[in-house]
Amino acid sequence: MITRFAPSTTGEAHPGTLLSALLVWLEARRRGGRAILRLEDLDVTRVKAGWATQLVEACAELGLTWDATVLQSALRSDHEAALDRLEAAGRLYPCACSRADRTGGRRAPDGGWAYENTCRGRPLVGGWRGQAEPVRLRLDDDRVELVDDGGLDLSQTPAHDLGDPIVRRRDGVIAYHLAVVVDDARAQVTDVIRGKDIAASTATQVLIQRALGLPTPRYRHHFLLLETDRTGKLSKLHGSLPYSGLRARMSPAEILGRLAHVAHLIDAPRPIRIDELGLDWSRVPVDDQVLAT
Ligand code: GLU
Repeated sequence: MITRFAPSTTGEAHPGTLLSALLVWLEARRRGGRAILRLEDLDVTRVKAGWATQLVEACAELGLTWDATVLQSALRSDHEAALDRLEAAGRLYPCACSRADRTGGRRAPDGGWAYENTCRGRPLVGGWRGQAEPVRLRLDDDRVELVDDGGLDLSQTPAHDLGDPIVRRRDGVIAYHLAVVVDDARAQVTDVIRGKDIAASTATQVLIQRALGLPTPRYRHHFLLLETDRTGKLSKLHGSLPYSGLRARMSPAEILGRLAHVAHLIDAPRPIRIDELGLDWSRVPVDDQVLAT
């Protein structure tokens, strides 16, 4: 069993990220597997090296050590080789549509607007490297039947429900959907454990795997940590509760105890060490939770 924790290093480490790290790490240990840390740093417009360092240090303080650590940007030649293969298969096309063209159209399962594959017929003159426009991947129009290990039904017809994904952005950045598929296959990942915020994209990733002839791992999407935003609405926990702020008030053992408690791994929050924790998915909540701090 090989799994990975693949955070985007686009912000400070926060409890939601570390909850994911904890569940990935415990699952690897429970099954005698390997857990890889892959720092997803492709989006050069949003990434800061300091955030990667901070995340690695936060994991280490909590006792989450990794069998290997990989920087995604170091895997660029693999991403390029995958784009070359997709281009050779005639699956890539440049997209001239703007976000505004989709807005108000059809809702996609991820909460955004579906792309209607409007530019599918446009030729890729000059290859993917030469494009000043975003490059999309023509998916098969197949329906993907998929229920994850937590029982979440992720079945979709991605080419219709979401539309063909962008695989290379206008600014030249290789898009997440392509990189994640290529990198998981290269690392021979057998089990992907990640937050439910990505669940609506999984079927798209399965079709990218098929287009590249890569295996599909097992998936499990866990609950998210929520916070109350300015309007009083609950939203995915993000910037407002950074690890550094928590750490100023609590020891790593106390933070680990809070995370373990919110995942129902222990009955009450208390300082705890990683080697005292076990993982029983039947106890882990399915619904998103608010972290008491
Ligand atoms: N890098 C993505 C994120 O931090 C997660 C990727 C994944 O687990 O597939 O949201």
